[in-house]
Amino acid sequence: MPGHNGEHDYGYLELFFRYFKMENSYKKLLEGNERFVTEKLSVDPDFFTNLAKQQTPEFLWIGCSDSRVPANEITGTKPGEIFVHRNIANMVVHTDVNFLSVLQYALEVLKVKHIIVCGHYGCGGVLTAMSQASMGLVDTWLRNIKEVYAKHEEELLAIEDMKKRSDRLVELNVCEQVKNLAKTSFIQQAWKSRSVQIHGWVYGLDTGKIKDLEVKVQKPEDLDPVFRYDI
Ligand SMILES: [Zn+2]
Repeated sequence: MPGHNGEHDYGYLELFFRYFKMENSYKKLLEGNERFVTEKLSVDPDFFTNLAKQQTPEFLWIGCSDSRVPANEITGTKPGEIFVHRNIANMVVHTDVNFLSVLQYALEVLKVKHIIVCGHYGCGGVLTAMSQASMGLVDTWLRNIKEVYAKHEEELLAIEDMKKRSDRLVELNVCEQVKNLAKTSFIQQAWKSRSVQIHGWVYGLDTGKIKDLEVKVQKPEDLDPVFRYDI
């Protein structure tokens, strides 16, 4: 069917099929699940029955919601190994009841030994926070990153290359979230009786590699006194 003014015209039939394809794209997830079950059972017939008994993960992962940074896949771990919390730009916000519940459960019930805050270069949340763009509700969330930017503005403005500047803000944001984690009463409570290590990592979307920022906040004394609780 020709277009009215020479533009592309896919015709009603093709439009219908494109719409049909989009509407049904979710089905590949269910088909993928069937393959997953078959593959796991072929290696270990008890895989799911064992996994269903209990979870004993050693790690809590705080990562970005970005679809390209899946915790298990990029760390070569299996289901049952990592307890996961994800949000836009891997933030640790002290008024976030969702995150605090995950943290408390991970520390007090699962007794995780390591907590990893993992950011990633090219993070859309960080890039948007660096700009003056307004996106509605998400502005409130990204405001936390703007505070990190303001705190480190001198260092950031000295980096002329915008990609390098945003990469550095990604790293600084991870370091600040590690500190925010240490400022919670839950981690300080856990530190009273055992060792819980906090790690700050950044994942490279274009390399697949994780960089350890080697953030050194491992005990209450690493924080300003005002953030230490008398627990
Ligand atoms: Zn991100």
